[in-house]
Formats: sequence, structure tokens, C-alpha cells
Amino acid sequence: MLEGLKIEVYKANQELAKNGLVTLRWGNISARDERTGYVAIKPRRTAFAQLRPDDLIVCDMEGKILEGLQTPSSDLFTHLEIYKAFPQVMSVAHTHSKWATVFAQAGKSIPNLGTAHADYFKYDIPVTRTMRPEEIAKDYEKNTGRIIADAFTLKDPMTTPAILVKSHGPFVWGRNIPDAVDNAVALEYVAEMAFYTLRLNTDADMNKYLIEKHVQRKQGGKNEQ
Ligand SMILES: [Zn+2]
Repeated sequence: MLEGLKIEVYKANQELAKNGLVTLRWGNISARDERTGYVAIKPRRTAFAQLRPDDLIVCDMEGKILEGLQTPSSDLFTHLEIYKAFPQVMSVAHTHSKWATVFAQAGKSIPNLGTAHADYFKYDIPVTRTMRPEEIAKDYEKNTGRIIADAFTLKDPMTTPAILVKSHGPFVWGRNIPDAVDNAVALEYVAEMAFYTLRLNTDADMNKYLIEKHVQRKQGGKNEQ
């Protein structure tokens, strides 16, 4: 079932590992099939180096497993909530990449301080609110997805395709699988740069006209700095 999608999702999971965004089993990427709406995601316990396309789990949007012998990633229901909230999103990546997670643990958004950030993310990368005890006690993963969706009620999620879940780590998305991988790589890079930029100058900021210029240039299909 969905053999082509499983191969693409398999390759994308390997890309996360190759780019140093995942340590041990901390992370996963999924994608949604355009025709069926089914989602393919990495199994929970399989290390990235051992992953094969046939290991991927295929499920419907309610999380019912349609194919796969293993347990899906524990973040499955967070991925599904993101797909439900954002119809344009076709792929979701979750990592604990170090610098983005530093900001998530600090409960700080990543400010837009340079053109590299603006080329991928129009706004500061937001951080979710603190989860309530009842949200953690029951349906924790689903509620994580809901607070991600809540954070984008006033903004187009495709203009800033990433968020930091407070005390946890980043979730990143895209219109397709390569977009989601690129955005995950870009997020980690801009997070590290923002950390050091703020150490050199705690008042650092960026001209909003320069941000607009780079956002518009990206819409023209370019990702130059
Ligand atoms: Zn996680």
C-alpha cells in the first residue's frame, strides 16, 4: 500500500539523520497521501540506521493502522492534528534538534534576525503555551497538536512552517516531503545563529522591509541569502 509514499518518507527520515537533526530515536517525519489522505509515519522503536521502507506504518486520519507490523511513532496523533488543522500541509517533521530545542526548553520564540530566517520563515518561530495538567494526563499527543494549531489561529501556517513545543522540541511542516525536510534543516540553522546573535547583541533585530523583500523573493521561487 502506498509503496511510493513509503519510500519517500523512508528517505526523508534518513535525511533528518544525515543532517544531524535526530539523535537516538528522537524524531520522525510523516507524509500524507494526496489521493487517499492516508498518512505514512516512522515506527516508534526502529533506529534510523535500521529503518526500511517496509517498516513504515500507514494509517488513516483517525490513527487507525492500515498497514505495518510495528507501533507507530508516539507522536502520530500530534502529526494528525497538524494535518487536520492545516489542509495545505502534506508532510510533518518532528525532531529534538539541539538549537531549536534549546529555545523550546527556554520557552522562547526564535526571533527573525536575518535573511536566512526570512527566506524560510516570515515570522519569529512561535513557542506553544504551557500545557495544562489535564491536557498532559489524557490525549497528550493529540493535545500537543491542538496547542500547535491554536498558536496559528491568526497566522497562515505556511508563512512560518515551524513551531517550538514548549519544554519539548520543534515540529516543522511543508507542502511536500522535501519542503518539510528543508524547513527542519533551516530551522536548526537559524536557531543556532539566533542564539549566538543574541549573545553578541541582545537588542538585535531585523528591518521589516528586508523581511518582506526576502519573503516575496521566496515566493518567486528563490532561496538565496
Ligand atoms: Zn519529541
